[in-house]
Amino acid sequence: MHQFDRHIAGLFLSISLICGSAAAATEGVHQRLLVLDAHLDTPEKLDFPGFDILERHDKLADMSSVDLPRMEEGGLDGGFWVIFTSQGELSEDAYARARTSALLRGVTIREMVARNPDQFELAFDHDDAEMIVAKGKRVVYQSIENAYPIGTDISLLQTFYAFGIRMLGIVHTTNNQFADSSTDKSGQIWGGLSPAGRELVREANRLGIVVDASHAHDDVLEQMIELSATPVILSHSGANDVHVHPRNVSDELLLKLAASGGVIQMNSLGSYLKELDMPEGRRARMLEIRQQFGPSRDFDEATAKAYLEARRQLAAEMPAPMADFEDFMRHFLHTLALIGPKHVGVGADWDGGGGVRGMEDVSSLPRITEHLLAEGYSEDDLSDIWSGNVLRLLKAAEDYADQH
Ligand SMILES: [Zn+2]
Repeated sequence: MHQFDRHIAGLFLSISLICGSAAAATEGVHQRLLVLDAHLDTPEKLDFPGFDILERHDKLADMSSVDLPRMEEGGLDGGFWVIFTSQGELSEDAYARARTSALLRGVTIREMVARNPDQFELAFDHDDAEMIVAKGKRVVYQSIENAYPIGTDISLLQTFYAFGIRMLGIVHTTNNQFADSSTDKSGQIWGGLSPAGRELVREANRLGIVVDASHAHDDVLEQMIELSATPVILSHSGANDVHVHPRNVSDELLLKLAASGGVIQMNSLGSYLKELDMPEGRRARMLEIRQQFGPSRDFDEATAKAYLEARRQLAAEMPAPMADFEDFMRHFLHTLALIGPKHVGVGADWDGGGGVRGMEDVSSLPRITEHLLAEGYSEDDLSDIWSGNVLRLLKAAEDYADQH
């Protein structure tokens, strides 16, 4: 080999060695960190007939992004497992149905933990996460997405607190009795929080529950920042200055949130990250499938199979457009540069529509750590981002409740 060639080859070898050890070091950092996601919509999957959280699933085969094998692979220690209720009409009958449905979803979460006591453990206080991970288990905090099932009886929040709820998302995609949504096509009805919504925020503070303004109208977020005795979280949101969408939040409001001690957890739902061209008629086909099969909670095994087959067929005929990992990171890096690593975390909306090309499920989470380290963020920053910030907010909620 020519001397010059050897020199070049040696150079390449040392570069690849450095890169190799850098990758290993990155992986080491990620595995060392306490890694929590603030918004896991997985409980809905748990109610799906035949779904086993201990088995490896596949995004394409059954639209699932979270299970134990993939949590292990992606170094995801746990997070906030969501009791989600879709919005219905504002009537006493509908509230009662929603309340039952939400309580049953809470039972589902507890059942997952009870059936798998060596793998999962319920978490309540801010310092439980560390303790559970030290035992080699996954952390199960619980949260509510959409306070609708609380109906008109605010005292029900105490029942949910006793259940273990430690984060409360006020509203979902349309207005409810407590607040205006960011995406209700009919516009606002309350000008932000309703009187009951204000009472609900105060009650959450009194109990020690972190209040969550994801999905809420900007006016709601602003009023919650003013009203809440403890910092507000956006459990799964994005940056409006990167992509204009009602589910994203402006720099101005993010600065207000951070100034009040609050935190935004970055979402990975494609259509919030950038403009995606939905194939003509896909939404209508999706709606048809949902109407044909009804709520997944009522499926038997045969219906579940038929439903998945219909979804796979739709995906084959009209693939849903996807955003890329780089689009997700664009929101992430913009927000970090704006408000700093003490106010940003991850709530990627797994099993709720989250996932991008290059990070389809939780097994790819080390990519985030790798990317942020390469951007110059330190291991301490990463520690805040992956769990320190959300747990700081939980501690603030606990401390306030202890003193009041
Ligand atoms: Zn959501």
